[in-house]
Amino acid sequence: MSKSESKPAAVDVVVVGAGFSGLYLIHKLRGLGLSFRVFEAGSGVGGTWYWNRYPGARCDVESMQYSYSWDPQLQEEWRWSETFAPQPEILKYANHVADRYDMRPHIEFNTLVEAAEFDEATNRWSIKTSQGETVSARFCIMATGCLSAPRAPEIEGVESFAGPTYHTGQWPHEGVDFSGKRVGIIGTGSSAIQAIPVIAEQAGHLTVFQRTPNYSIPARTTPMNDDYEREWKDNYAARREIMRHTAAGNFYERAAISAGDVTPEERQRIFEERWAIGGTRFMTAFNDLATNAESNEAAAEFVRGKIREIVKDKATAERLIAKDYPIGTKRICADSHYFETYNRDNVRLVDITEEPIHRITPTGVVAGAETHEFDALVYATGFDAMTGTLLRIDIKGRNGQTLNDKWEAGPRTYLGLMTAGFPNMFMITGPGSPSVLSNMMVSIEQHVDWVSDCLANLTRQGSEVIEAELAAEDAWVAHVNEVAYKTLYPKAASWYMGANVEGKPRVFMPYIGGVGAYRDKCDAIAAAGYKGFLMQGPRAAVGAAAE
Ligand code: FAD
Ligand code: NAP
Repeated sequence: MSKSESKPAAVDVVVVGAGFSGLYLIHKLRGLGLSFRVFEAGSGVGGTWYWNRYPGARCDVESMQYSYSWDPQLQEEWRWSETFAPQPEILKYANHVADRYDMRPHIEFNTLVEAAEFDEATNRWSIKTSQGETVSARFCIMATGCLSAPRAPEIEGVESFAGPTYHTGQWPHEGVDFSGKRVGIIGTGSSAIQAIPVIAEQAGHLTVFQRTPNYSIPARTTPMNDDYEREWKDNYAARREIMRHTAAGNFYERAAISAGDVTPEERQRIFEERWAIGGTRFMTAFNDLATNAESNEAAAEFVRGKIREIVKDKATAERLIAKDYPIGTKRICADSHYFETYNRDNVRLVDITEEPIHRITPTGVVAGAETHEFDALVYATGFDAMTGTLLRIDIKGRNGQTLNDKWEAGPRTYLGLMTAGFPNMFMITGPGSPSVLSNMMVSIEQHVDWVSDCLANLTRQGSEVIEAELAAEDAWVAHVNEVAYKTLYPKAASWYMGANVEGKPRVFMPYIGGVGAYRDKCDAIAAAGYKGFLMQGPRAAVGAAAE
């Protein structure tokens, strides 16, 4: 008997994905006593940290903060080796959690969910997998991740390159030896900025193809200090609670003043202080860097000055400096010696706005008037973020409507948790929730807690179906939009806006109203009988009762 044959064909819940969202769901669903199956495309747990094994990959949220908070014992026992954990260690942590809580028997690996269709006659989802199985479930929870649909660059001849090619988001498990090789890398986002310094140390020569320069702050990761770790562990419960109610889910000192409230000298001193501390908390040096163009420009100019100080070749420094979008409106990067890497003799920057890439050939890349010959190519070209992974699944809701059709003009959700017309389908950190603008661990836990409380409620009430109301969804989409346009974020052609994928609608996808404020809204909606959600079932219509 095959593995899947020994599993029930009908369950209460199907979970798609076994990253940090999926693992926490296993813990919660077990607690609820519901029957469930978990499908994972990869051969192991960890999601992002399973797939993104490129050299230099690490967290840009402090290790002590980027971990589960749901078991005090777990957080007391686990020890991080550095202030910002490297990818192998985060993957080890995910595996430790899976083993410690005996989660693996629930997960079916190497199994892609290809389609999910809601049957209105039975109020159940029919979920098709790449193993040829169809599973029936009352609820379908998409724990599929926001950054899990990697994109290769759409460049003529991309398939023709004769040497090996690697996407940062699908890095080989056995690692890659670039020793002595001529390597080309396309992209200068967060992944590239982490990978470039490490690849440059190994490769014979590295050519970086940059389309848009990025702002980056040195991460300044250090070995974990025992006293620092102890202090965190002694205060974990209180700090985690504070994090849950902050803007971005982090325990960082956030200034209460505007950059305009201090003298230029004082502003410079504060930026210097943040630069010296390192990491993305640079963006909380003042309280208006995301909203006030002048304050933002002061921060951007500070970083430009740092790049000019670090990079010796003046022309290269100017090419590396972002000038036409506000700092932080594309995801701010955290690096380890990124700009310094351009001082190496074996590294060259090609600005493709000056020397456009014409095509990829079997031996290299033709850019401007030059042909660059390579032994290997790295695509650090990012993801079809937030919606890509969901839309790669053939999802059909009421009346056979596909999710692709419904989201043709951009994602529409209520709270980033559900979308009208697709009953009983939840998204963890879906578009319209703080997700990628936050410490994702905090947002994942909040969503998984909310969804499992909701399932417990439905079970208690005897309700079979929960669905976002269209009017509530429309109001939420308008709110998400309104809040976004009060900030500087929409000024950048970022993946937050869908701008990195040709033809993708330009909509600001995450909710920027803040992790704490968002949590309060979700809790208030649940407390009001799941306002804005319709519920149906044999015994109760909770949503209707609350009207
Ligand atoms: P994922 O980890 O993406 O897991 C989703 C899983 O679903 C994957 O394993 C995937 O294989 C599976 N899946 C998807 N579709 C299907 C399908 N159809 N069938 C079966 N399985 C499917 N966040 C931070 O807060 N701080 C950071 O420093 C940070 N660094 C990051 C670095 C990188 C390189 C990337 C790409 C992201 C980073 N993130 C960071 C965001 C990160 O994605 C989240 O922190 C978190 O790991 C997401 O967990 P998840 O379980 O929700 O999704
Ligand atoms: P990304 O930020 O989208 O960067 C992709 C890069 O590739 C950009 O520089 C982009 O240029 C370039 N690019 C894309 N298509 C191209 C093409 N056809 N030709 C030339 N250049 C092209 O992707 P990512 O670096 O993988 O990061 C994605 C997200 O994952 C991050 O924003 C972050 O949220 C997360 N992440 C976090 C960390 C961390 O520090 N913890 C590390 C990695 C990733 P344009 O800017 O012009 O589009």
